[in-house]
Amino acid sequence: MSKQQNILIIGAGLCGSLLALRLGQRGFNVSVYEMRPDLRKVDISAGRSINLAFSNRGNKAMKLVGLEDKVKSLCIPMHGRMIHDEHGNTFQSNYSGRDHEYINSISRGDLNALLLNEAETHKNVNIYFNKKCKSVNFEKTTALFQDYETKDEFVEDADIIIATDGAGSTLRKSYYLGKKFLFSFSQEYLTHGYKELSILPKENGGFKVHKNVLHIWPRGSFMLIALPNLDGSFTVTLFLSYDEGEYNFNNLTTEERVLEFFRKEFPDALALMPNLVEDFFENPTAPLGTVKCSPWHYKGNTLLMGDAAHAIVPFYGQGMNASFEDVVVFDNVLDQHEGNWETVFREYEKTRKIDTDAIADLAIDNFHEMKDHVANPIFQEKRKLEMALEKEFPDEYSSKYSLVTFNENIGYREAMLKGRAQDKAILNMLTDKDIEVKGDLKRILDKVKQETEAILEDDRIAGLKH
Ligand code: FAD
Repeated sequence: MSKQQNILIIGAGLCGSLLALRLGQRGFNVSVYEMRPDLRKVDISAGRSINLAFSNRGNKAMKLVGLEDKVKSLCIPMHGRMIHDEHGNTFQSNYSGRDHEYINSISRGDLNALLLNEAETHKNVNIYFNKKCKSVNFEKTTALFQDYETKDEFVEDADIIIATDGAGSTLRKSYYLGKKFLFSFSQEYLTHGYKELSILPKENGGFKVHKNVLHIWPRGSFMLIALPNLDGSFTVTLFLSYDEGEYNFNNLTTEERVLEFFRKEFPDALALMPNLVEDFFENPTAPLGTVKCSPWHYKGNTLLMGDAAHAIVPFYGQGMNASFEDVVVFDNVLDQHEGNWETVFREYEKTRKIDTDAIADLAIDNFHEMKDHVANPIFQEKRKLEMALEKEFPDEYSSKYSLVTFNENIGYREAMLKGRAQDKAILNMLTDKDIEVKGDLKRILDKVKQETEAILEDDRIAGLKH
């Protein structure tokens, strides 16, 4: 495969800009077309999650492109969840019993800008803004664009096209509408949407609440979360049903009702948010959904990557991390099969899809965990036990959360299967009155391991039967 090959990338978001950088480093000619203006010059953050939880899988990709240190300087470590109950009491539940394992809050804009800057240092990478892709001819490997400023339309061709244009991907629509091959596609919305709010910094620029945690106000069927920003503010996100329950997005239509809702459900948060009403009515309410599809590629011509291939709900904090990990997996496949795009695309999808399907399902599970289970005593007992096991036996035990978030050496699917089996084993122990879950941690660890293996074996047998 000649390195002079032209690769066209649609979308210069988090995945597209990282992919452009990596392919630029590998020596390909890369052109990226982004529909929005250059975020380094224009403030376009409104309506998108302003900050994100960045963790090991994302960091693995930063190591690949040599940006680990630069990204670190943008990060605020979050060691655990700070749970706020209805009475304003708080308690911290750490993400791991190992001190070196934590997640980070990072600004989407700063991270995207860094990736764009780094990609542009390569002469063989060109990024064009305000160019919206309208459709892709995947048989001819061409894409139709419209320039937002001049309104002119133009067609670009390339040796391959990779669409990293997010959850509403144009290439995916072209696959679907083209009806040239069997294309499976599902999109499932949650009945909940989200709205971004904020806690502003103190006047001296400090943080109004503890900065090194992810704050959660779980309320059973809805929740509020807050992640810190480097300027001392927090981005607060309300996850709430559109139309169910006493308070929902459809009936929070007046200032009085919004204040009544926050006074009743989140009084301690309200005290930190004098700007609540303004934020609430200025910021959009957006839906949350899961997209699964296959195949991701058409022959050796076109490929979907990142959210375009597998958009997930944000509750595991893994959408961006998974999209970054896509680039690492793609890079490994290129190492093995460079020279034959069709094989590269097929092998990439074969390797990757089982893992992105798994994280999609885990993210839905975590939606229920965050808004509800974290406030449940049995769940809290389970987390305490897991923390103790991780602390005492750091090389022998990792909770499901740790396997998914901190163990970048195994895929999401393996993390899911093992993590779910462990969860079942621990919950069985905690709810079985005949089993004493106290005292000797080594005995408990052995029991958890034994039960986990038995559950995994049952799963394997059930899988073989189906
Ligand atoms: P995007 O970031 O959506 O980028 C797509 C790019 O393509 C955009 O720049 C867009 O303008 C451009 N584009 C779209 N259509 C076209 C077109 N037709 N022509 C040209 N350009 C186009 N992930 C985490 O890992 N941790 C988190 O904590 C987290 N929190 C989240 C919170 C919320 C509320 C949401 C909604 C998501 C969250 N995510 C999180 C997920 C994360 O945002 C996505 O997984 C990630 O942005 C995917 O990157 P991407 O590049 O594939 O898509």
